[in-house]
Amino acid sequence: MVKVNPHYERLKRPIIFPVIEQKLKEFKGNDLINLGIGDVALPLAFDVAQAVSAAMVEMSQKPIGYGPAEGYLFLRRALLDEYSNYNIGVDEIFISDGINTDLANIADLFDPTCKVATIDPGYPVFGDSSLLAGKQVITLPCVEENNFIPKPPSEKVDVIYLCSPGNPTGVAMTRTDLEMWVAYAQSNDAIILFDAAYAGFITSPDVPKSIYEIEGAQSVAIEMRSFSKSAGFTGLRCSYSVIPEATGLTKLWKRRQNTKYNGCSYPVQCGALQALKSEESSAQVKTYLQCAGALKEALGQNVYGGINSPYLWWKVPDGMSSWEFFDVLLQEHHILGIPGVGFGSCGEGFVRLSAFTTMDKIKEVTNRLGAYAH
Ligand code: PLP
Repeated sequence: MVKVNPHYERLKRPIIFPVIEQKLKEFKGNDLINLGIGDVALPLAFDVAQAVSAAMVEMSQKPIGYGPAEGYLFLRRALLDEYSNYNIGVDEIFISDGINTDLANIADLFDPTCKVATIDPGYPVFGDSSLLAGKQVITLPCVEENNFIPKPPSEKVDVIYLCSPGNPTGVAMTRTDLEMWVAYAQSNDAIILFDAAYAGFITSPDVPKSIYEIEGAQSVAIEMRSFSKSAGFTGLRCSYSVIPEATGLTKLWKRRQNTKYNGCSYPVQCGALQALKSEESSAQVKTYLQCAGALKEALGQNVYGGINSPYLWWKVPDGMSSWEFFDVLLQEHHILGIPGVGFGSCGEGFVRLSAFTTMDKIKEVTNRLGAYAH
């Protein structure tokens, strides 16, 4: 057999989804409410679907082949509106087929000796892709004691993955939190990879939608945003990364994309352009936020997140583990959550509930979980 990448051996985090699938197979009820899913629960907005379809028809009328690896200018120009206050240029915006891809591939830009910091609990790709790329990785605990906001380490790291609003905790970083991180990055010659997949869910005035609201962030931060959750693109795939010239990384990423990537498809980018102005897509985000708010209110104390995010981070009753409470929710209440420990060891003691659902389901959930509310 060919020699394989030895770093696969470093992936120690248990993959929880096969275990959950097995438990679901064994589950006998027929009234399961799935709050485990981190995927959209509503269909693609009709105007977005129309834009994608129109682009397909256009492709049947004239040849439209490879597009620019960086993405079509029509979409990149439209995205400038999101950044009009921060002096971002069109050449600093790169379209991709999902930020999962960019979060992992960005490792190509950094020296193999770079030390990476990831958050725990966190979205698995941060740590796993860094390990696969052979990087040294340390974790930053996000626990109740620090309100689930990672604190800069005492040692120097080169690359930092931050995520706000966070998945799985649903907690968002305030301006002060981000200022603390920009200052750390500036004094350590580090770069922040800012995963803003849920930026579209931010409603609190003290929570920046973009890290570039913080002075100096342009030279130390890359921001990644996705159409997945804010416009129901999980099945279509479109996202963008902002890599300001001041980071010194724009040309490297452009080179990387032109070597290893042939771009996001034309119809999908036409759909994304429409999504930027789709009232139906915005209304869907509001629905998910309403679901999150109603569930948060019903569960009362011991639940975090759910304000600027579709996720709630629920502390399990004393004496139980994440998995034990997962089983109670499933077997006794016929509700599916995700054991927090699946997102990192600091997630032990919590379950993640997702509000990617509808209000009628939330009402039923609150009836079933009434006993826990206080
Ligand atoms: N980052 C976070 C925090 C996520 O929760 C997700 C998807 O669930 C992603 C990135 C992946 O986004 P995309 O669908 O754009 O690849």
